[in-house]
Amino acid sequence: MSTVSSEPTPSPLPIRASSLKPPTPPTTSRPHPRHSFPVPKLRLEIQDLNHNGANVFTSHSNISTALAAAVDAVLSTLYKPTATNSLIPPTRSVTLILRSMDGVAYTTGSSLDDDHKEIHFSLDYIANISSKQPHRQRDEIQGVLVHEMVHCWQWNALGTAPGGLIEGIADFVRLKAGLSPPHWRKRSGGDWDSGYERTGYFLEWLEDTWGQGSVMSLNSSLKDKKYVEGVFWEKLFGKRVEKLWNDYESSLGKTESGEEKSARSIDHEDEEGVLVEKDVDLKEACQPDDAKVDSTYTTSLEQLWRVQRAK
Ligand SMILES: [Zn+2]
Repeated sequence: MSTVSSEPTPSPLPIRASSLKPPTPPTTSRPHPRHSFPVPKLRLEIQDLNHNGANVFTSHSNISTALAAAVDAVLSTLYKPTATNSLIPPTRSVTLILRSMDGVAYTTGSSLDDDHKEIHFSLDYIANISSKQPHRQRDEIQGVLVHEMVHCWQWNALGTAPGGLIEGIADFVRLKAGLSPPHWRKRSGGDWDSGYERTGYFLEWLEDTWGQGSVMSLNSSLKDKKYVEGVFWEKLFGKRVEKLWNDYESSLGKTESGEEKSARSIDHEDEEGVLVEKDVDLKEACQPDDAKVDSTYTTSLEQLWRVQRAK
């Protein structure tokens, strides 16, 4: 006759075979920064986990490394590895807020102070990124993060730099990070400060023509002096910006047919879901009615893009 103890008996621990090695800690894919700047506190807030955009984001973006990788791309492109902390903006934290809203994304100072940044990124936009091309969703999410992260770390001539230059620097960094969307193309015409990829490609040409680090110098020159167009460009490149833009356009004439042909080919392949940038007035874009706007950082705000079906 057996007896049953009334005392609960804990389950024994599994016996590990002596030949088994202890588990190897998981390796991390976090990139090694090429600079020594302290990475700020990074936070993520997803306001609606049931939104399809939240599903796309968590499925196609590495949550643990996406923001750190964006910081690394920005600092490595805009600042020398030897730059001291006094040469970069004193951003102490960046919070990525994923929420349902119009437009794509914008960056602003937080309610604490301007050293704490918030990147607001539209879940509706993320949900509508085309999934036809491999890695398109991942690359578009990371590309927008890099663009917005630039606004957390770039100088703006005490708030006097043209909005188109601020946005062009952001897309230049995105371009250098290898995250340009398939619909981007080099285009002549328009103004040098049209912003976004048009100005971004112009800055890339400056970098190619005047040497690596030219855009670093340009950003540094926006640190603590007000922007005076006639002086700014001549001091850096020895020419007025209109002349530089004309030289850039001339350089495009030699290669544009190839660029346009390539862009048309990509548009055709993805004609069911091309992401089209829609330009609106920067001042209007800087007034989202549901966001706290930091008046010293309004040029970073944007709600300029819309998802449209290709005609
Ligand atoms: Zn921007």
